[in-house]
Amino acid sequence: MKKYNFNPGPSILPQSTIEQTAQAILDFNGIGLSLMEISHRSKDFQAVVNEAVDLFKELLSIPDGYSVLFLGGGASLQFCMVPYNLMEKKSAYLNTGVWANKALKEAKLFGEAVEVASSKEANYTYIPKNYSIPVDADYFHITTNNTIYGTEIHTDIDSPVPLIADMSSDILSRPMDVSKYGLIYGGAQKNLAPAGVTFVIIKEALLGKVSRPIPTMLDYRTHLKEGSLFNTPPVVPIYGALQTLRWLKSLGGLKVMEKMNLEKAALLYDEIERNKLFKGTVAVEDRSLMNICFVMDEAYKELEEEFYKFASERGMIGIKGHRSVGGFRASTYNALPKESVIALVDCMKEFEKKH
Ligand SMILES: *Cc1c(COP(=O)(O)O)cnc(C)c1O
Repeated sequence: MKKYNFNPGPSILPQSTIEQTAQAILDFNGIGLSLMEISHRSKDFQAVVNEAVDLFKELLSIPDGYSVLFLGGGASLQFCMVPYNLMEKKSAYLNTGVWANKALKEAKLFGEAVEVASSKEANYTYIPKNYSIPVDADYFHITTNNTIYGTEIHTDIDSPVPLIADMSSDILSRPMDVSKYGLIYGGAQKNLAPAGVTFVIIKEALLGKVSRPIPTMLDYRTHLKEGSLFNTPPVVPIYGALQTLRWLKSLGGLKVMEKMNLEKAALLYDEIERNKLFKGTVAVEDRSLMNICFVMDEAYKELEEEFYKFASERGMIGIKGHRSVGGFRASTYNALPKESVIALVDCMKEFEKKH
């Protein structure tokens, strides 16, 4: 049976990323050795890092003065590295969910980390607006896409202090203005590569301003100086990231990707609104293009398990909602083909006919 992969993360990757990476694991660049058994400092692998950095810069139109790093530790280590490197006394956080909270918790270890606004009281079903960012904070931290709740900040917001963004689950899903950010980071396993690598886009001028000593491995300057090769980096995931970046470029770049993402999301959100059995869970203007959450309408609550089974029998994978939201979540990352969304919509229509 055909599988439609709506997993929230690790999640679907372009078929070409999987095939090219599998090929390189068997025989890298025709050298008769696996990608996994060569030096990360070899000329062939250096070329992989260079091309991945260049494509990242090209696709996102990253301005001069910024560097792209590939590190270990996941987005979760960035929760700590960001304040370690950038927060002298005070920082500000927008609380839009579990991941934002985890980031805030780490910052509190380094000084006064303030929550400027939160949508916790409504189980994070919207993005807070009309808050004010303290101008004496060293930075303002946001989570652009809230993977669990299905909300997303769709624009590059203005901030009077350096803007730091966790973009784990929506990086490269739309063109953006990187110059509005001081630092962007994320785990690769949602929209870019196999798990194990973390991307960091950093404005170099922000570094070197805090007075505390920073352990070598946690200091961005270490990795900047060594071009992400201070120690052995996650070689296979970086290779996977390069293949996804090539795929994005071959499709026509992020404007094309954004159009495809808007189309896919509209198909599913329209069906959620039309279908009497289902309803959405978040404020319409904040609906995520990457993680689409929905529940059974009150009148049909008892059908939840039945729909889950019905959809699973038709090849839908990974659509169970996060336990803190319930219901369903379809993750529609870049690599998810439109036909998968159509298959899920058909499934919802068919289920409605039965009831
Ligand atoms: C998945 C996720 C994380 C955690 O990433 P790890 O790489 O597992 O540390 C952090 N933030 C967001 C928004 C996520 O979706």
